[in-house]
Amino acid sequence: MPVRHYVTARIIDGRALGAIIEKGLTNEAEAIEKRGRAPHLVVVIVGDDAASHVYVRNKQRACERIGIKSTRHDLPSTSNPSDLIDLVDNLNKDEGVDGILVQSPLPDGFDEISITEMIDPEKDVDGFHPVNLGRIVTGKVDGLLPCTPSAVIRMLESTGERLAGKKALVVGRSRIVGMPSALLLAQKGVDATVTISHSQSQDLRRLCLDSDIIVAAVGRPGMIKSDWVKKDAIVIDVGINRVEVDGASRLVGDVEKEASERASWVTPVPGGVGPMTIAMLMRNTIKAASDRI
Ligand code: NDP
Repeated sequence: MPVRHYVTARIIDGRALGAIIEKGLTNEAEAIEKRGRAPHLVVVIVGDDAASHVYVRNKQRACERIGIKSTRHDLPSTSNPSDLIDLVDNLNKDEGVDGILVQSPLPDGFDEISITEMIDPEKDVDGFHPVNLGRIVTGKVDGLLPCTPSAVIRMLESTGERLAGKKALVVGRSRIVGMPSALLLAQKGVDATVTISHSQSQDLRRLCLDSDIIVAAVGRPGMIKSDWVKKDAIVIDVGINRVEVDGASRLVGDVEKEASERASWVTPVPGGVGPMTIAMLMRNTIKAASDRI
């Protein structure tokens, strides 16, 4: 009986996969422009959170690569929620705007959920509006899906492994990552059998060891230990955590790196879910534009 030895898991390369998706979107952007005008994404950023500025720059660069017009509105941290509400209201009415993204986190005093609910669902390229999240529950997955959860599914599908019937564990139940990822995994067509875990879950180690797929979305560096990963499991590490290693600042995920010695597939951090999330944002922007132009 031959014994399989994985020296190391195969990598699901988010940058490479994202680049392939962007190439397809470039053709679509060109076709939309020929019909009237280029797709247009507006990004709103409030305050001066350094990480948010980096994320927004990366999103704008992706727009440039694809041929999406991007406009950025910077509101100072001293602005009032009513300034943001007025801006979103105007962008909703503006026929020349296809997608609106309000970068999180918002400063104290801003209610992120109510701002999200103000965005026209047809322009909600983050996919966080209750209408777009709710569509997933009804089984409609051809609309504006939340970007990170749809990145998770695309990355799983890219492995070519059969997902139907696999036991998937989602660690984390946030509105923007964990919960919608679990819903997408359970959709008809993906057909995983899903467990959602959170801060009150008991025996996370056992839950992990029982799972064929682990989606980690917690925000705690290396909290999923490598020996909690079942042999040949697929590990999607959504976590992005900044840590100091030997005096240098580095980004690490929620899963210990050594998990790749047991898993069949892993996503790297950085270079995994992050770039694919941006690709999914670009996909949503093209989708929103093609429905309007
Ligand atoms: P949240 O803080 O909103 O949610 C974290 C979740 O983890 C909560 O549901 C929480 O449970 C759960 N949790 C906390 N401790 C434990 C524990 N000990 N065991 C099990 N579950 C636990 O984070 P987000 O969902 O917004 O983000 C998660 C991570 O993903 C972060 O590192 C973030 O930076 C990253 N991220 C990456 C993106 C990308 O593009 N790659 C995009 C978005 C996020 P409870 O609900 O009980 O509090």
